[in-house]
Amino acid sequence: MQIEINGNALKLITGDITKQETEAIVNAANGTLLGGGGVDGAIHRAAGPELLAECRQIRQEQLNGEKLPTGKAVITKGYRLPASFVIHTVGPVWSGKEGKDKLLADCYRNSLQLAAAHGIHSISFPSISTGIYRFPIDRAATVALSTIVEFLDSREFGEVVMTLFSQSDYEVYEAALKKLMD
Ligand code: ADP
Repeated sequence: MQIEINGNALKLITGDITKQETEAIVNAANGTLLGGGGVDGAIHRAAGPELLAECRQIRQEQLNGEKLPTGKAVITKGYRLPASFVIHTVGPVWSGKEGKDKLLADCYRNSLQLAAAHGIHSISFPSISTGIYRFPIDRAATVALSTIVEFLDSREFGEVVMTLFSQSDYEVYEAALKKLMD
């Protein structure tokens, strides 16, 4: 499914984000930036060890050894990935509390703002927080898509692709987008 928003494109696809050829892909990282399971592990495996080295450097130099806070984003190169850049953001762990929606929205908004600040015009997102972090996917889809739509409504950007890893995830995002556009 693809829609146009203010001259920008928003696409929903099924696929593997490590194969996407947008200028940037987003990693659903954890605060350590040192890799993990799920999409994080897949991105580090595909990008090669240089990605981990740059993440370690960011931890030391930009974050003074601290973890990247939930909702915030940092950018690295893409190394062996088809994408030139990886934007790493830390999704909230679901705990049944309303306040987590805002943190999830922050992930999408801060990633998009960081991309725009680097002159990037195409970006692919995974479904942040809906794997190991257990965020209910229908709720996450509404937060993700409404944040992306609001961003695209407000400026000239280019293309945003939501890369869903399964057909059932795709269907949840498709239903949420149709509802949002009603
Ligand atoms: P989180 O810790 O933020 O929940 P996960 O990596 O566990 O992150 O899951 C986030 C989403 O990414 C899940 O829907 C999972 O199915 C999906 N995913 C896992 N691997 C890939 C991949 N290679 N490409 C796209 N999505 C992926």
